[in-house]
Amino acid sequence: MKKIFILGSTGSIGVNTLNVIRDYPDLFRVSGITANSNIDLLMEQVEEFKPEWVVISDKSAAKNFALRSSDKIEILEGEEGLITATKNADYDILLSALVGFAGLSPTIEGIKRRKRIALANKETLVVAGEFIMDLAKKYFSEIIPVDSEHSAIFQCLAGEKTSEVGKLILTASGGPFLENTFEDLKSVSVADALNHPNWDMGNKISIDSASMMNKGLEVIEAHWLFNLPKNQIDVVIHPQSIIHSMVEFVDGSIKAQLSKPDMKLPIIYALSYPNRLQNNYTQTDLCKISKLTFFEPDFRKFECLKIAFDVMQIGGTAPCIMNAANEIAVEMFLNEKIKFLDIPKVISESLDKIEKVSHPDIETIFECDRKTRELALTYN
Ligand code: NAD
Ligand code: MG
Repeated sequence: MKKIFILGSTGSIGVNTLNVIRDYPDLFRVSGITANSNIDLLMEQVEEFKPEWVVISDKSAAKNFALRSSDKIEILEGEEGLITATKNADYDILLSALVGFAGLSPTIEGIKRRKRIALANKETLVVAGEFIMDLAKKYFSEIIPVDSEHSAIFQCLAGEKTSEVGKLILTASGGPFLENTFEDLKSVSVADALNHPNWDMGNKISIDSASMMNKGLEVIEAHWLFNLPKNQIDVVIHPQSIIHSMVEFVDGSIKAQLSKPDMKLPIIYALSYPNRLQNNYTQTDLCKISKLTFFEPDFRKFECLKIAFDVMQIGGTAPCIMNAANEIAVEMFLNEKIKFLDIPKVISESLDKIEKVSHPDIETIFECDRKTRELALTYN
């Protein structure tokens, strides 16, 4: 029986993880769950899964939860609550699925406890990849990707030598604006941007997919996770989202992992690895998929993807600056304070103005995130 602590149980990945756990009551048990403010859903989850640890980050939501909860269940609050719980709860796997920079601190606690990290929160590796991979090595903590592209690559690399990898090929659906022109992007609405063709995800990652910043974050995530040089990571547009990513080896052979899109697959793999569990989540009938197509991304239209590649080359705190500015820009776009094409502008401005530090320690990363947010909020 594996005990799972889920950071962000009320989110898209969190709910899918609970859907998986529900199907394997003899294999998995929920040790802890956390939410920011969706206490209605959290209450249902507490009732069904009876976790020992519950954290609500938003303090007024935590008070409301306590007032409404009939059980005498102890609730921890705020960021401190996340740290206390991940430090002390009894779990085998930390499923890290908060959104954004907020996922970094509790993930560090899981690593320090030598636990397996099932990592959905890609921002952790984007902002602190070097620090996190060193820490995981030091504490013998396994980081198993949940992001579908990285799960695909992880599966393709099974039994292979990193030295024989030619390149990683991350696939991208191209998001809701694949068919639009650059001109069209000037006036797209929040609803247009949230309307992803293949995946149902949280708001932040949906906007990141529309701007292709999501693929940019994933390129940096892959660089750290698989310890490969930056020039060995490519992106190819594959609108059907059937091939989740590929690895090309030095002999020219390419391995790919395929399935109809369903996040329960990479989630269950991260929980059951190195084993595979039987399920009927998705049947991929290749004869019904009439074609698989591939083409190069348009870096002019999707400037965020270009920025991410540039920032990966610069290294140090540059990805942290990009990430913080992007988080603020996405929030401003969702609140209709800026236009869609302002998102890369907020990021470029922050990258121009904030000082970059190479090989940052963790304090420097927190400080860089804080400063960048402060600056990005002044964009107009
Ligand atoms: P989501 O917005 O649906 O859920 C986020 C979860 O984190 C919720 O439980 C929310 O309550 C909690 N949360 C949000 N802000 C918080 C904060 N400041 N402090 C504490 N808790 C907070 O997001 P999601 O789509 O599930 O994505 C989660 C992570 O997984 C992201 O990093 C995303 O990039 C990554 N990811 C998601 C998918 C997907 O299909 N949804 C796929 C691959 C990777
Ligand atoms: Mg992904």
